Amino acid sequence: MHFIDAKSILSGSGGHVGMNIYRGCTHGCIYCDSRSLCYRFTHPFEDIEVKQNAPELLEMALKSKRKKCMIGTGAMSDPYMHCEEELGLTRKCLEIILKNGFGLAIQTKSDRILRDIDLLDEINKEAKCVVQMTLTTYDDDLCKIIEPNVCNTKRRIEVLEQMQERGIPTVVWLTPILPFINDTVENITAILNECVRTGVKGVIDFGMGLTLRDGDREYYYAALDKHFPGLKERYIKQYGNAYELPSPNAEELTKVFKQICSENDMMSTPDKCFRYMADLPDKYPQLRFIF
Ligand code: SF4
Repeated sequence: MHFIDAKSILSGSGGHVGMNIYRGCTHGCIYCDSRSLCYRFTHPFEDIEVKQNAPELLEMALKSKRKKCMIGTGAMSDPYMHCEEELGLTRKCLEIILKNGFGLAIQTKSDRILRDIDLLDEINKEAKCVVQMTLTTYDDDLCKIIEPNVCNTKRRIEVLEQMQERGIPTVVWLTPILPFINDTVENITAILNECVRTGVKGVIDFGMGLTLRDGDREYYYAALDKHFPGLKERYIKQYGNAYELPSPNAEELTKVFKQICSENDMMSTPDKCFRYMADLPDKYPQLRFIF
C-alpha cells in the first residue's frame, strides 16, 4: 500500500454523498468491475492507495454541510480490507460521522465490520445506519474461488445475523450473477432464504448477470482459464465483447427473486433500495418537541 494526502474525501451531493478512504482492493474478486481501465488507476489495483488524511478531511467536510445526510461508503473499494486492521481509518471516520450526527450506508464483504458494530449501533440510534453485504454464492467452495481473499458466505450471513440482533438494517447485493457459474435457482433461493431469515430489508439485483469492461474482462477470463477450463470460450461464443452478459437463466431467476422478495416484504428494485439508503429521517426535532 502507499499513502497520499488527498484533496477531498466526499463526492456527490444531496442524498448521494460517497466517501472512499481507500483506492484499489485486495479481496481479489474475479469479476471486479472496479479494476476496469475506465477508472484510470495509475498504480496496481492491489497496491492500495490510502488517503491518510481522510479523518481530517471528513471532519471539515461534515462541519461545512448545512444539512445532515447519509454518507455512503464501500462502492469502489471495501472499507474493511486487511489494511484496515492496522490503519483503523474506517473506524476513525465512523467516529466522526457519529459525532457529527450523520447517517451511514456502508458496504462490505468482510466480517471485519464486526469490530465496529458498537459504532454502527450508535450511528443507527442517533441517525441511521444501513449495512450492505454482498452475497453471490451459497456454495462456500465456489466462494473461495470467485472471492478468494475475504470471508465466505456463511460468515457474511453471521454478520447479517449480528446486525439483526442489534436492530441495524441490512441490504444485500445479489450481484453479479455469473453465467454458467452461480446462476442457478438453487443458489438464488438459498441466498434469499437466508436474507429472509436474517431480516434483510432489501436485495439489490441488476438483472441476473455480469458486466465486463476492458481491464476487468482480461482479469475475469484469466480466472476462468485457471478455475473453469473451457468456460472462457463459451463466454466468447455467447457474448462476444458485450458489456452486459445476462445469464441464460435470467428470466427464471428473476421470477424466483421477485416472488421470494414480495412474499417476504423485502425491497427488490435497486431504485427502492437506493432511495431507502439515501433517506435520513428527521427524527430529532420530533423528540425535542415531545420533551
Ligand atoms: S470487494 Fe469489490 S472492489 Fe474489492 S475486489 Fe471485490 S468486487 Fe472488487
